[in-house]
Amino acid sequence: LVSRKKKPNDTIINIKGEQIGNGKLNYVIGPCAVESYEQVAQVAEAIKHKGLKLLRGGAFKPRTSPYDFQGLGLEGLKILKRVADEYDLAVVSEIVNPAHIEEAIDYIDVIQIGARNMQNFELLKAAGDINKPVLLKRGLSATIDEFINAAEYIISRGNGNIILCERGIRTYEKATRNTLDISAVPILKQETHLPVMVDVTHSTGRRDLLLPTAKAALAIGADGIMAEVHPDPAVALSDSAQQMDIPMFDNFMNELAKVNRY
Ligand code: PEP
Ligand code: MN
Repeated sequence: LVSRKKKPNDTIINIKGEQIGNGKLNYVIGPCAVESYEQVAQVAEAIKHKGLKLLRGGAFKPRTSPYDFQGLGLEGLKILKRVADEYDLAVVSEIVNPAHIEEAIDYIDVIQIGARNMQNFELLKAAGDINKPVLLKRGLSATIDEFINAAEYIISRGNGNIILCERGIRTYEKATRNTLDISAVPILKQETHLPVMVDVTHSTGRRDLLLPTAKAALAIGADGIMAEVHPDPAVALSDSAQQMDIPMFDNFMNELAKVNRY
């Protein structure tokens, strides 16, 4: 059902009036993890200032170490919702457990399924049973075919509002946190009718590579860019090496505006 052979025209996803997949580049911006109301509100202010709509933030964090910050959970979703209402933004946030979907649905506009859960089939099925848009990230070691099949799990249950997100794959290369598979973007766009985003933050893990990879994503035809922004990355509770601060984000957007397509 996700195949372009089944449906030749692009799927356009409407999130609170924002169209994803209509040829315009969209941005999903926000901190790695929700830490406090003030932290999220500062980023929301910056997003709003740039005319963007999609605010991200992790409340349920899938961390490599059990001793690392695990996120604020439902409390984090409530903070996101409060900020989004105040700034008229839409919330993108990760859900890691099918049992959380029902309570999360009131606070989230787009359910993110993270790389580590791309083949959590029960979570995929649960996301397929609701009618909220789903942002599905490519697994750490998933082939494009496996990624497409994960999306198929969601659409096969009735929910076709899926955004695919290339976020880098694990290779032998250590210079970046993951290896951004930029050619996955046109392949996914040829093979499926779904919008495709690029997460420049988790793919590179390097602040200095966010702008060049975002330009590459734009040039290759991505429908959107995800990037993490924190008011003070040095004290961030997760991903402190790769988040932009607000002046850097402003510059990032200004530089992209010079090459943006509409
Ligand atoms: C995230 O976007 O918050 C995240 C954890 O990314 P990924 O699942 O791609 O590692
Ligand atoms: Mn992160």
